[in-house]
Amino acid sequence: MSLGNYQSQLRIDLGALTSNWSFFAGQAHGAQCAAVIKANAYGLGMKPVATALAEAGCETFFVAHGLEGYQARQVLGPKALIFVLNGVAPQECELFLEHDLTPVLNSLEQITLWQKRGLCCPAGVHLDTGMNRLGLSEEELDQALGPLKSIQIAVIMSHLACASDPDHPKNDMQRKAFLTLATQMPEAPLSLAASGGTLMGSQYCLDMVRPGIGLYGGSPFDRHSVALEPVVTLESPILQLRSVGPGDTIGYGATWQADRRRIVATIGLGYGDGYLRSGSNRGFAIVAGAVCPILGRVSMDLISLDVTGAGSGAKIGAMAQFLGRDAPLDAQAQALDTLSYEILTRLGDRFERTYSQS
Ligand SMILES: *Cc1c(COP(=O)(O)O)cnc(C)c1O
Repeated sequence: MSLGNYQSQLRIDLGALTSNWSFFAGQAHGAQCAAVIKANAYGLGMKPVATALAEAGCETFFVAHGLEGYQARQVLGPKALIFVLNGVAPQECELFLEHDLTPVLNSLEQITLWQKRGLCCPAGVHLDTGMNRLGLSEEELDQALGPLKSIQIAVIMSHLACASDPDHPKNDMQRKAFLTLATQMPEAPLSLAASGGTLMGSQYCLDMVRPGIGLYGGSPFDRHSVALEPVVTLESPILQLRSVGPGDTIGYGATWQADRRRIVATIGLGYGDGYLRSGSNRGFAIVAGAVCPILGRVSMDLISLDVTGAGSGAKIGAMAQFLGRDAPLDAQAQALDTLSYEILTRLGDRFERTYSQS
């Protein structure tokens, strides 16, 4: 179906995606570079993203759920190694075995289950080194060593709690705890780093790195930017323009009031599309090169922008860029007091995603 001019556009640059993957692979000090494609490849579309990464040479993929693993297998074909981070539930064993999904075993229960049901199929093992979320504690690992002898271990992994701050002392504590625990399974390859850890030096890269957000153009660090290619462009059209003056208010709850004359554009984008409502009175878009702040509340289908600074560039049908080269993902995340991760994974099904190769 052809789209009207009033449709928002979500464009995904697969060339930028694969160049970001190559950047991480080049920073990995010889470690294998996998790709994390959970949550529909961070909202960008599992199928085109996984296909492009595989064509660029990526052989190992991580998802969170068994069903995501199944979807990844349909796209990637039989050769890819697909890890499922959340592990395997008793009812899921058939799915995992039939589609050659490799669970990351997070608990004694999962290890016992896989030992019985997985027979000779490989698995990953997650060690908890201080995040206290998933994975085996030191004591549990002692108990697991017996059953693990009959499982082919494809990777031993752990996850850093504070990699968004490379100077945080917890990073080195977790790294040392991980290496100490892992000596009990000396044959298996080791993986500790997501996007942030990969850029923290060879001592974090080990045998395999697992970048996610960096592939999609988001900096893994709170305070440093990283030279990544922007992957996502989100633009939405101006539907209507109006002039407001002192005392006029905008939108639900009348939370913004003009103190002088302003040109206001109404844009066809809202929280129903996945643009966070926390952008009310704090998010921004770029129109004709000018930074245009959001005025009032974000509603389901509409946002109001102060386009006074855009001059004659603010006209009906002109596009306001919310994400892209002029409106960086990290800047938008900061304005909305959230993370690039949340912005991307909220992008809904209302958009037709279009893909290019840059
Ligand atoms: C999501 C996730 C990753 C990817 O993290 P990024 O910060 O997006 O690079 C890696 N490892 C685990 C265990 C994860 O849950």
